[in-house]
This record gives sequence, C-alpha cells and structure tokens, in this order.
Amino acid sequence: VIPFPEVPPGEAVRISATMYLTFRQCPEQARARYQGQYPPDSKPSFVGALAHRLFARHLSAGPIEDLGQAIREEIGSGLNARLGAVGIHRPSQLEEAVGRLRALYDRFRRFPGDGFIAAEVPVEAEPREGVLLMGKVDAVFSEEKGVLLRDWKTGPLGDPLHQLLFYALVWTLQRRELPGAVEAVSVQTGERLRHLPTTRDLSRVAGDLAELVRTARTEWATGGESERWGGPWCRYCPLLEDCKEGRAAVAVNQL
Ligand code: SF4
Repeated sequence: VIPFPEVPPGEAVRISATMYLTFRQCPEQARARYQGQYPPDSKPSFVGALAHRLFARHLSAGPIEDLGQAIREEIGSGLNARLGAVGIHRPSQLEEAVGRLRALYDRFRRFPGDGFIAAEVPVEAEPREGVLLMGKVDAVFSEEKGVLLRDWKTGPLGDPLHQLLFYALVWTLQRRELPGAVEAVSVQTGERLRHLPTTRDLSRVAGDLAELVRTARTEWATGGESERWGGPWCRYCPLLEDCKEGRAAVAVNQL
C-alpha cells in the first residue's frame, strides 16, 4: 500500500487526473478550476469524448458495423447537451466531426484487443478524510505480469506519464494491487508510451496530491492566489484574458 502524506483538515477536495495535471502545470489555473471557473467546451474535446465512447463500445461489443448509427446513439445517450456549447447547431455542422470520428475509428480498429478485460473503468479512493481521488481508465487489459491500464489519446501523445501514474495510484489505493503496466496510445499518430509503475513513482504522486490538498485547504480557502506558470496550456485557461504571464506564453507559442 502507498502511504498518503498527512494533510491539514478542511473541506472536501475532489481531485481528478485533469485537476492534478493542471496543478502541476499552473497552480493558479488549478485554483480557478477548483473554485468553479472552467475553460469553454471545445469541438476537439467533444470529438475526443465521442471517440472514447466508440472505442469502449468496440472493445466491449465487437466491431461497429454502422458507425453513423452508433455516433447518433452515443450523442443521444448523454452528449446532446454539449452540441450547442461547441457550436454544432445543425446536422450539416456535425459532418466534419463525423468525418474525424470515422478516420479515428478506422485507425482504432487496427489495434489488437488481446487480453481485454473492461472499458471505461471508474477508479476512486479516499486516502485521507475528505480527499477524494477519482478517474476513469479507458481500458484495462490482462497481461502476464498483471493488469495494464491504457489511456487512448485522440490527438498527439504529448506527455502523458503523470496522468498514467495518477490512475496507477488511485487503482493501487482502491484495489491494494499495483498495476503491472500503464500505457498511453495515440490513435491519431500511433505513438505509445509504456511504463512499469513502482511504489516510488506512486509515492511521489501521492506527495504532489497532498501538496495540492494543503494548498486548497490553506491558501485557496482563505482567498489567496497561487503562482502562475505560463506555457502552452494557457490557451485553454479561463483566466487567460486577465493574465499577463498567460498572454505572454500564448504569444511565444504562436511564433
Ligand atoms: S493564463 Fe497561464 S499563467 Fe495565467 S493563470 Fe492561466 S495557466 Fe496560469
């Protein structure tokens, strides 16, 4: 079992993988999200969510024969409300997204599904009172040395290790068993990152999360702000308009 450091008492703090990654990138953006300020929904994020539903359907029920029908069903079963928010108001405006989904699914179906156990597996743990860690693992596979937790990316692979280790930690805290491996795979580019998590890796993540909780229960709870660290992530920050560090970072990244 991975020890989770002591944290000061206070209000419940819910931490998803996104919140963890945001805190690592820019603590001030994490504060904004923690206090309910989120970036607007985007078409790539909508397409990504829909693609993940199709991947889960394929893994659980076999190849999808009528992709158009499957897309309509998935939109109808919970994604309808996001259409307007991402600027899709008419069926013709959905076509571009459907084209992208078809291309992604064509690539996805070439990945072998050997050892598949389950898709979209929720993970949750409360290692200290009021500290709720939660996430959803895209797919779990059985391998010789234990389970493999896999995350699908619908864009470039990026730098997914911290996200993977977050899932590995929550999995371990919940099930008292270290996953054999974690892996991120870009369906778009075919890039892959595989890692064998160690207890030292997961203790480090637990330390980062405890720091997040300490910050939320001390600085943020008393109206304080955090440091601002500019980078490519500023583009999607809800504070961008009024943040000089963020505007400078966006300008540099556009060069
Ligand atoms: S715009 Fe960038 S630097 Fe400013 S708060 Fe947001 S993420 Fe941080």
